[in-house]
Amino acid sequence: MNLAILGAQWGDEGKGKIVDLLTPQFSIVARYQGGHNAGHTVYVNRKKFILRLIPSGILHPGVTCVIGNGVVVDPQALLAEIDELAASGVDVDGRVVVSDKAHLILPYHRDLDLLSEARRGERKIGTTSRGIGPAYEDKIARRGIRVGDLADPIGLEEAIRVNVAARNRVVQDTTMDWRPVFEQLVRQAERLRPWVRDVSLLLDQAMRGGRSILFEGAQGTLLDIDHGTYPYVTSSNASVGGICTGLGLGPRAIHGVLGVVKAYTTRVGEGPLPTELTGAMGNRLRDSGNEYGAVTGRPRRCGWFDAVVARYSVRINGLDALALTKLDVLDGLETIPICTAYRCSGRTLTEFPSDLAQLAKCEPVYESLPGWQAGTAGVRRFDALPDNARRYIARLEEVSGVPAAIVSTGSERDDTIVRRDTLQAVNLRLAL
Ligand code: GDP
Repeated sequence: MNLAILGAQWGDEGKGKIVDLLTPQFSIVARYQGGHNAGHTVYVNRKKFILRLIPSGILHPGVTCVIGNGVVVDPQALLAEIDELAASGVDVDGRVVVSDKAHLILPYHRDLDLLSEARRGERKIGTTSRGIGPAYEDKIARRGIRVGDLADPIGLEEAIRVNVAARNRVVQDTTMDWRPVFEQLVRQAERLRPWVRDVSLLLDQAMRGGRSILFEGAQGTLLDIDHGTYPYVTSSNASVGGICTGLGLGPRAIHGVLGVVKAYTTRVGEGPLPTELTGAMGNRLRDSGNEYGAVTGRPRRCGWFDAVVARYSVRINGLDALALTKLDVLDGLETIPICTAYRCSGRTLTEFPSDLAQLAKCEPVYESLPGWQAGTAGVRRFDALPDNARRYIARLEEVSGVPAAIVSTGSERDDTIVRRDTLQAVNLRLAL
């Protein structure tokens, strides 16, 4: 079966760990959107790695890692990541595939990103300034440069010239010379060439040959360009629809969808966060959960679990089940509130509002559950969890509308509870 694993909140849900855990079940791991702003923390030979662009499946020998057309690729970042992995003894040869239709992030995109954030002033989005947004802008404006264009140096030179000139008209305090941009890209193209493929065809052939695919989402549903808290979102479709457009597959190729949620909520950057905790409890969650960006080091905003958001993610993505992470971060709390609805202008809302102004006015409606004092860190069996932790999970399942098939209790691969009955009940046929 082919399975999608995606973020059901505002990103950083711990997708990397869940993908890593499930990868041995698949032949291919495919990314369908985003760029090198995603950051998965993984350890290879006791060395810490932050995988940004290459699916974390690269750490499992024999698994092919695919970067789909929906991803924007910074060639410099991609090559650096590959070199870093190779230097640590990870065999990357012939295991990375990049779509010829993926758009490139080039040095002028980074300048445009910085400028656009500076111009927004107070209304800044809080981007990672890696040029991802401007690369997607070029894609939609039909002036982007794609990986496949690297095969035609004459056309490439012309496109770079035009795009750098456009950059120089906008960014006025510095002038970029198009030549070094072009020359560097020609050198990078040489290295990238063996990996460039028609990804849609490759995946189709793989499926016909009986190989299974794990679709790996980056960021989260509430950061989706269409269904997230626009404009405080990323520039791509992080939700399930991005799989079809970002890889060139039909919807029937997706046999199951697993939504990763933290046992509480976090978000990075600006934009509304109804359950946000700004006081001591916010700091408590941030410190126990080590809620600092893997790529940027930025502190994440923290709050209680928001079931309105979870239900919305279930709907947008057709989630079959949840993978609940970081349960251990809640260890030792006296009581744990869950947001089950919002109060907005005298009305109770049970559905996530599409209007950002309305969302900004929403107050969470909480119900409180008793916490647990015994530690859950590292617990690997559901029945070994404290009673109140099990009650908490059961209530999250009720208010979210789907079961939690996987519960993560620590960052190690083995610190995980796999609920086989639940997986089976929702038809996720994984041999775990
Ligand atoms: P991603 O982008 O969704 O993969 O998430 P990140 O990698 O940014 O953040 C997840 C962080 O939480 C990583 O440092 C993981 O090692 C860690 N993590 C994942 N699951 C758990 C868990 O169940 N408990 C704890 N304490 N940490 C976890």
